[in-house]
Amino acid sequence: MSQASQNTCPICSSSQWQTFFEVLSVPVFCNILWPEKLAAQRCNRGDLRLNFCSNCSFIGNIAFDPDHLDYAQTYENALDFSPRFQTYAHSLATQLIEQHDLHHKTILEIGCGKGEFLLLLCELGDNRGIGFDPTYIPLEEHGWANEKIQFIQDYYSEKYIEYQNDFVCCRHTLEHIPQPTQLLNILSNNLKKTIQSQANPGIFFEVPNALDTFSRSAIWDIIYEHCCYFSPVALTYAFSSCGFKVEQVTEEFQGQFLCLEAHLGEPTTTLTKVQQQQVSQLVQDIKQFTIRFNQTLEIWQEKLRQFSQNHQKVVLWGAGSKGVTFLNFLKVESSVQSPIEYVVDINPRKQGMYVAGTGQKIVSPEFLQEYQPDIVIIMNPIYKDEIQKMLTDLGVQDCSLTIGF
Ligand SMILES: [Zn+2]
Repeated sequence: MSQASQNTCPICSSSQWQTFFEVLSVPVFCNILWPEKLAAQRCNRGDLRLNFCSNCSFIGNIAFDPDHLDYAQTYENALDFSPRFQTYAHSLATQLIEQHDLHHKTILEIGCGKGEFLLLLCELGDNRGIGFDPTYIPLEEHGWANEKIQFIQDYYSEKYIEYQNDFVCCRHTLEHIPQPTQLLNILSNNLKKTIQSQANPGIFFEVPNALDTFSRSAIWDIIYEHCCYFSPVALTYAFSSCGFKVEQVTEEFQGQFLCLEAHLGEPTTTLTKVQQQQVSQLVQDIKQFTIRFNQTLEIWQEKLRQFSQNHQKVVLWGAGSKGVTFLNFLKVESSVQSPIEYVVDINPRKQGMYVAGTGQKIVSPEFLQEYQPDIVIIMNPIYKDEIQKMLTDLGVQDCSLTIGF
């Protein structure tokens, strides 16, 4: 973050912007895959120093250093292998297509990753797509998609103003940008210049829900890659200050995500009663946060100690951000004596790789047939049913599932 934003909130410029939480030396990237254990353990590290704005309720990491950011193509953040997540993405795409009449239109996606969601929108609505992402790599020949979707391996910026569109979507990207209003201003300026020649495009953004992370203490969601944490109020504030009229912000995926819909227009600046209450609640939660964080760590340290004492074999399910953060906050280094030696992930691109910071090997669910763990720690309760089913199908039955929070 720039020097100026160290002293004031980068969203609303308020000086009620204070540090409330600090963890030093965490892996810079949870989602970079490491082919060797030692390299994984020696990964680049950075500090978490979170500030809270008691005016707009935005939370940001002021120790975040953009120079650490090099989103290489090995960045692997696709959640799409989970059936539960696929169902969610499919119903979201269907809903957006219906509500915004996205048929034979042009859809622009900022931060499209490997392009899965854009493909879905284009396939289901017979649309054309333009996807921006520096980590994009062509996965396979998509046939029809090659003609209808253009992928640009770059950050979205002013220079892409000529890419006119009818709808903009951006999922799980804004929280990675240290000055989110910069991107929103670029988008709003690009749209303003093209709006004369077409209708006012709808905007859809999805980010992790800071209420879930900080009010419900989902502490494993605090990662270096996320330099921003948005509550519904902070998200509304950010878009309103960049020339957007926010239509709605909803909590989705059991409250874990926020979905915002907006378009260019008169911003709304007054808070509703519910929003005012949310800010006051968050002010209270932030005060308690470090205490609650340490309590959670202590509970887990004790659990892991007992597992080791009872010679129970423990695996973690999910080598995503939550799992990697769990291991790193608890400092569970991989070794023969380690309470956790393996992490299971259904994404074949992750299997055989190693966890950043702590060095656990990532294995397939099939590995458990031989390994037969006693305990499986699940990092996201939303996937519990599908994990239970997979374990039963694999004949891994003598183990108990524990939710990692
Ligand atoms: Zn603020």
